[in-house]
Amino acid sequence: MLMNRRKFLGLTGASALVATCTPSAALGQSLLNRPQETFAAMLKNMQGLPQQKNMLLGYPINMTAPPEEFFAWRKELFAVGLNQFSFNNVGNPYAHSHVPFNSHLFERELINRFGAVYGFSPDNIWGFLSNSGTDSNMHGLYMGRTLLKSQTGVIPKIYFTREAHYSIQILTDLLNLEWVVVSTARDGSMDIDDLERQLKANANHPALVVATIGTTFKGAVDSIEGIQAKLKGRTAYLHLDAALFGGYLPHTQFATELLHEISDEGTGGKVKRYDSIAVSCHKFFGFPAPAGLFITTRANFETFLTQFGKIHDPDYILQIPGTITCSRDAVKPAEFYFFSSEAAFSKQAADAKSMLDNTTYLLKEMMAHYSYLQPVRANHQSNTIYFRKPSDTVVNRYSLAAMGIEVDRKRVPYAHVVVMPHANKKILDRFLTDLGKKEG
Ligand SMILES: *Cc1c(COP(=O)(O)O)cnc(C)c1O
Repeated sequence: MLMNRRKFLGLTGASALVATCTPSAALGQSLLNRPQETFAAMLKNMQGLPQQKNMLLGYPINMTAPPEEFFAWRKELFAVGLNQFSFNNVGNPYAHSHVPFNSHLFERELINRFGAVYGFSPDNIWGFLSNSGTDSNMHGLYMGRTLLKSQTGVIPKIYFTREAHYSIQILTDLLNLEWVVVSTARDGSMDIDDLERQLKANANHPALVVATIGTTFKGAVDSIEGIQAKLKGRTAYLHLDAALFGGYLPHTQFATELLHEISDEGTGGKVKRYDSIAVSCHKFFGFPAPAGLFITTRANFETFLTQFGKIHDPDYILQIPGTITCSRDAVKPAEFYFFSSEAAFSKQAADAKSMLDNTTYLLKEMMAHYSYLQPVRANHQSNTIYFRKPSDTVVNRYSLAAMGIEVDRKRVPYAHVVVMPHANKKILDRFLTDLGKKEG
């Protein structure tokens, strides 16, 4: 027997609920009936943002808008329906999907291209475009945990330093892993001797190691070779968190830093340097919204998938997706594909060069005029300068990140500037002038 909603509510004595359960009643009249001016004022508040954007110096975000060709590409994507109706990249971009409303072809192509940039061999690449650097880290750690547990029957312990990004701490908790804290050297990179000690102290567990290539505050780089030397003979998985540096290092003199494989001088064969890598798309590349690259080997993925398929019933979408998140954005992979062309790569090379040159300039000027702020650049790969926290006015004007750093066992307030492509000499000169002003 069919029954309409009113009758059902009447029968259950719940008709009084009808009056209070409509969405507008639940929202409350005051929320819905705001005067139109309120929204105009909200928009007006945001109007100055395009003019202010290049003043952002404290966070690793490229505030330069992508070139016109990017917006033309968006229009082409719009014309085939993207951003007009629902597309969904659920599933493995490398597998056949029986629902055609996705951008898997672009996703696969861009992962293959970036995989080549990071030196993965062409027939041994797997990955996808994630929601963010954190999301990519999550997939790396989950893959590492799954592979190590299936190889040994034991849940691994995770190794990283306190200079690693806070997302790694969150993910450690989420994945219910035990954190083995590795101490840092003076420059903020992983102390390899301490890693060796910690590995020995935890010999009964496989090791899931996170190397940060560009730590968030100091811009330090953990040594992949140093870590691999200590992992010899251990069941281990090495994930690289290269959220920021991963974008630009491949286009600099430090390109070999992130290569997935190198030739072994002794045997002439190839040696794998890491298992997976995470890079943010909105940091160096200047993609207009958060997204991330996650890249690993096909071999890792296939082993992972076997385990993954045991935990999850894949019947519903006719494949085992191999991603933690089910529905995935289709618009972003199609759009980010723009950043994997030859022209885009040469733009990235030019941006990388000017960024590192400008970092050198900023350090030199700060040393010359404000050496009392004790500015530090951790290494030549880094586009970050950290220094004693200046006035709140300067911190606020340039949205500087500020935090306490341990110096001689005391926490001292520090701030940093991350020299991104929009931070040109003109902006940096303004910042340098403001540093010298007497302000509260
Ligand atoms: C920014 C950053 C992250 C987090 O990336 P999101 O894309 O913001 O999620 C992780 N690790 C490092 C080293 C970072 O700099």
